Amino acid sequence: MTTSFSELSLAPSLAKAVAEMGYESMTPIQAQAIPMVLQGRDVMGAAQTGTGKTAAFSLPLLQRLLKHENTSTSPARHPVRALVLLPTRELADQVAQQVKLYAKYTNLRSAVVFGGMDMKPQTIELKKGVEVLVATPGRLLDHIEAKNAVLNQVEYVVLDEADRMLDIGFLPDLQRILSFLPKQRTTLLFSATFSSEIKRLAGSYLQDPVTIEVARSNATASTVEQHFYSVGEDDKRHALHQILRQRGMKQAFVFVNSKLGCARLARSLEREGLKTAALHGDKSQDERLKALDAFKKGEVDLLVCTDVAARGLDIKDVPAVFNFDVPFNAEDYVHRIGRTGRAGASGLAVSFVSGKDARLVADIEKLIKTKIDLEAVEFEEDQPNIRRQGRINDGRRMYAERDEAPRREERAPQRDYARPAPVSRDPFFDKPYEAPESTEAAAPATWEATARPTNRVSANIKPKRKVAALFKSE
Ligand code: AMP
Repeated sequence: MTTSFSELSLAPSLAKAVAEMGYESMTPIQAQAIPMVLQGRDVMGAAQTGTGKTAAFSLPLLQRLLKHENTSTSPARHPVRALVLLPTRELADQVAQQVKLYAKYTNLRSAVVFGGMDMKPQTIELKKGVEVLVATPGRLLDHIEAKNAVLNQVEYVVLDEADRMLDIGFLPDLQRILSFLPKQRTTLLFSATFSSEIKRLAGSYLQDPVTIEVARSNATASTVEQHFYSVGEDDKRHALHQILRQRGMKQAFVFVNSKLGCARLARSLEREGLKTAALHGDKSQDERLKALDAFKKGEVDLLVCTDVAARGLDIKDVPAVFNFDVPFNAEDYVHRIGRTGRAGASGLAVSFVSGKDARLVADIEKLIKTKIDLEAVEFEEDQPNIRRQGRINDGRRMYAERDEAPRREERAPQRDYARPAPVSRDPFFDKPYEAPESTEAAAPATWEATARPTNRVSANIKPKRKVAALFKSE
């Protein structure tokens, strides 16, 4: 199989953009999908964000659209020829940014439309004419109804993150949008899993598709160093400080299981001198994006978050992930640690395991098919001033408290962080995780060595109203 971009015979304008991105070899999904799309085949791809799938569909689409490239200022000469649908505004924005980079040296135009933003600037852009339109379904329908978007010349449609679109309940919107498109077209569908719903969707809208499966979703990145430390509840913060200090790490994601635990831990860590922000379901979208932005700018050291708040956010280059609480669902472990060690960077994933977590750790062990060895934390003598039980900790008291810990837990079993996470209001998370039906081994990750993360949520995302459901596009 071809793995070098140079063997693809991409047009010089596209090859130049790829070279500028620093990509050397194709990722597995690219190696398999690009030649198929170039041949005009429909593709059903099992691949998650982080596998390079955006380039896997964008590059061949752009290559095939080059025949329509023109410099005319007339909107009629720039009808929508490729439509890319995604479930969330963040993903739409990220994909649109990548498409722009790949199309940089062509005369093909691209635009993105998603909800939560004024329609006017989007309308102006659409009216000027764009060949590639990236959109979330609800907002696209608004533009179709307002006659800002005409889709009767679409040749390619990409249903990206199709499983999430179905989870969110976008099926009726998708069906409506697809009814506006010409029957004669190429359809590409990407999904993390091939559930029966996805297969039904593919059966209705794809013609004789090539099926490509590159990685199973419970595979943990080979570049992540994973540690499980046996730590009493009261020593977890202490251990967190120590590991950060010993590793010389400045930034990390810290996962907890409850909103309340999240807010409390963030407050404690802030008091202990770490710049910390909390990311949980009670925070408005505006607050979440601000916290993320501050983390990306390095103004925040630790982002303490719940699974619900963090799951849809595509942040790839976090140096370390701490599981302050072992997640209740083993799949969440995979999602959590997937934020580090991606796109070529090596990552660290540390889980703090207390006495009550044995079953949860066994579930993770089963899922990732790797034996987990619990390690002990050797606490250093000179600890920072970390308050526990209202006192400054010193070495002696620490041991005494650790010995007492089981008795305290017996008396107060209903600790906040021991309770199951409250039900999410984000519809995406209301559905249980669906394991992929295939158990094929994960694809080799050799390409990761040269990957360069570029995705950032752009200044485009300025929500106009506060919504609890961050990942809904409308
Ligand atoms: P995606 O799965 O499309 O979100 O891509 C994940 C990341 O991998 C993005 O930051 C891309 O820029 C990067 N990437 C995509 N293709 C390649 C490649 N062939 N080599 C290195 N990095 C890549």
